[in-house]
Amino acid sequence: MSLARDNEYEWKIVKKSLETPDTYTYSFSPATSSQRFSFTVGQSVVLSVMLRRPTKSGQDDVSLVQRAYSIASSPYRDIIDLTIKDEKPYGYINPVSGKADGFAAYFFEQIKIGDKVRVRPNINRHHFLWKIADGIERDIAYWSGANGAESARSLLQFMEDTKKEDMRLTLFYSNPHLYQDNEAKFVNVIYYDWLIQMAKKMENFQVIFNFTKDQEIQPTDHTRVTYRKGRFFLDEKGKEEKTLSRYHGNSEAFNPICGSSGFINGTVRLPDGRIERKIGIMQNLTNIEGVKPEKIDKEQYYLDLASTK
Ligand SMILES: Cc1cc2nc3c(=O)[nH]c(=O)nc-3n(C[C@H](O)[C@H](O)[C@H](O)COP(=O)(O)OP(=O)(O)OC[C@H]3O[C@@H](n4cnc5c(N)ncnc54)[C@H](O)[C@@H]3O)c2cc1C
Repeated sequence: MSLARDNEYEWKIVKKSLETPDTYTYSFSPATSSQRFSFTVGQSVVLSVMLRRPTKSGQDDVSLVQRAYSIASSPYRDIIDLTIKDEKPYGYINPVSGKADGFAAYFFEQIKIGDKVRVRPNINRHHFLWKIADGIERDIAYWSGANGAESARSLLQFMEDTKKEDMRLTLFYSNPHLYQDNEAKFVNVIYYDWLIQMAKKMENFQVIFNFTKDQEIQPTDHTRVTYRKGRFFLDEKGKEEKTLSRYHGNSEAFNPICGSSGFINGTVRLPDGRIERKIGIMQNLTNIEGVKPEKIDKEQYYLDLASTK
């Protein structure tokens, strides 16, 4: 049963877990039983919180700030997880408004275990992964950017909870580097250890980690865990030839893609504000592998900045 005002619910934070140096998973419990709602894999929520943020004039500004987050846990579990990555640096001031306009850095700083937040579920019938939630698609090649595996985590937990052996998932997980810095060896890949454990445990799941900027690639110690340099198979002249979809091995598979605009379709905002359009994994799948549009689904988290590449 759910009772919500304006489709808004109240959740309490019960746990905060560090994923990588700039990412935490927050676990939530509905504040009362009437604040629980049912959801399906791929669904997202909008979080609303009051945050104190700096302005150019030096005075702090307190206002209600909202951001969307994919639900990262199984629909069958009591506790709901959201994984939040800080993309915009703490203290960044928007040059036009003269105010800090980030969310994650201030959420990490000010929102504590025990605090309550407001959440609004995305009730669009055709949300990300709805075809999987409806049982239409079961053979899945999921393409994730460095921030984009949250719905894959929900799906994997869902597969674990429901023991759906007719489902198959390959997670193609693209990150610039495995470690934040090679000396400290801080892993910079969200869910890294958990994904390896799950691949070792579940025969219908494999993970392909691909690193776009690392030179040294780790050898694998398990058939369902693969490490690759770059996002392509190369021809004998070193030219990008095929995507990594061969690891999944079914041209009819369903291909959800999740991450930033640059990852999905090569779109970035230039420092002068103009939008530049190149190509991303979506066009690669369509043009190189011949994947049909109805076999692609996408969730874009934000527009990439060219200068941050
Ligand atoms: C449907 C949906 C689901 C989402 N799910 C998730 C999720 O599960 N987890 C998650 O972490 N995020 C998710 N997001 C993105 C999320 O809403 C936030 O954008 C993200 O957490 C970053 O928050 P932020 O406060 O750091 O940056 P924001 O204020 O949200 O700004 C992000 C923007 O900052 C820009 N940026 C990056 N570096 C800099 C820089 N140096 N200077 C200035 N700008 C910079 C980026 O290009 C990007 O456009 C989702 C978004 C959508 C639309």
